[in-house]
Amino acid sequence: MHLLLSEELLEVKQLARQIAEEKIKPIREELDKKGEFPHEIIKHMAQSDMFRAFIPEEYDGLGLGISAMSIVTEEFSRVCAGVALGYAGSGLGALPIVLMGTEEQKKKFLPSIASGEKLAAFALTEANAGSDASNIQTTAKKDGDHYILNGTKQFITNGEVASTYIVIANADPIKGIRGLTAFIVEKGTEGFSFGKHENKMGIRASITSELVFDNCKVHKDNIILSEGKGFKVAMKTLDFSRVGVGAQALGIAQGAYEAAVEYAREREQFGKKIINFQLIQAMLADMAIKIEAARALTYTGMAYIDGNGNDYARVGAMVKTFCSDVAMEVTTNAVQVLGGYGYMKEYPVEKMMRDAKITQIYEGTNQIQRLVIAKEIIKRGAEITDMY
Ligand SMILES: Cc1cc2nc3c(=O)[nH]c(=O)nc-3n(C[C@H](O)[C@H](O)[C@H](O)COP(=O)(O)OP(=O)(O)OC[C@H]3O[C@@H](n4cnc5c(N)ncnc54)[C@H](O)[C@@H]3O)c2cc1C
Repeated sequence: MHLLLSEELLEVKQLARQIAEEKIKPIREELDKKGEFPHEIIKHMAQSDMFRAFIPEEYDGLGLGISAMSIVTEEFSRVCAGVALGYAGSGLGALPIVLMGTEEQKKKFLPSIASGEKLAAFALTEANAGSDASNIQTTAKKDGDHYILNGTKQFITNGEVASTYIVIANADPIKGIRGLTAFIVEKGTEGFSFGKHENKMGIRASITSELVFDNCKVHKDNIILSEGKGFKVAMKTLDFSRVGVGAQALGIAQGAYEAAVEYAREREQFGKKIINFQLIQAMLADMAIKIEAARALTYTGMAYIDGNGNDYARVGAMVKTFCSDVAMEVTTNAVQVLGGYGYMKEYPVEKMMRDAKITQIYEGTNQIQRLVIAKEIIKRGAEITDMY
């Protein structure tokens, strides 16, 4: 029995932990060093039905929602957040179809994502459209029953390895944000190629790359919702998926905390195990408190979103911001507990510290998330914090 997880979710969590321990842990250091995508592990995740977890049952999934996507991401991230992102990035790419796709789009695209045969990706960001997503320059010019896409997307997770992409482009630049439109674009479509492959500080086992559209012809049936609704599609998708980033951060923090406790029990200085020093104890106790708080917030948030709670923007922003700040603090202090050894690549905590940083940046920086929360406070008053 788990206070916050159903039996089904608990089973999924246990299976994810087993995969993380048996398949990911032995090669995480090598993947990080080489910056290599874990194709074999992704295949294993697929065979274990991990990708089915967040896809609705009607489309060959298990129908366990954002909760399943989050706890699987948490467990993978406890061992390697880079590998976890290959999984979570596909969840992010599938979400717009799950939440807002037509019946035909769901039938056509979701089963192959559920089986893990195909990965998905979500492409909003551009060189001049990061936090200000309204400044998208990629265009989609109407041409009969098709749209012609031109432009470049930047920093796209699962860039080269995905098969199904959600691309936000502007079909009517004069209308600005009201021209933005969400398209499903398949790998292999003429005029769609890949640009720069990024070399990153952390989450190095995930692929981040540019998507280049050069007169890429996409049928109008691949529009999600309708022309001009792209900003809504993008924002709703991210509002739902941010709990997953929180879960990723939570997993990283958990992994670093475990490594710090294990090390503090073994390492001796001044004739004692360092866990006996109260300043070390204070760091470990603070880690434990903050991880428990982060987990309670994440699990409550994901249950709220799966339970059709309508305050999902505020909830997602809070989970992501809190957990990512916790992950950064916990991993930094885990390195501190390990002293000079923590700084070395022989121990996992320096990687976890590098991996943690991204969770404060992507899917909307923590500065932007704080603005989102503050906007809700200004609009609706202080009572927004007691809504569960
Ligand atoms: C590894 C990685 C993977 C990614 N994956 C994806 C993906 O799959 N799909 C996708 O679409 N995007 C992806 N991104 C993009 C990511 O979401 C953006 O990098 C992020 O939203 C920030 O945008 P930016 O980098 O342009 O920073 P900027 O917007 O230029 O921000 C720079 C700084 O200014 C601050 N700032 C900006 N505006 C304000 C403001 N109004 N008030 C206060 N501070 C402000 C920011 O908080 C930040 O500190 C990824 C990025 C990385 C690094």
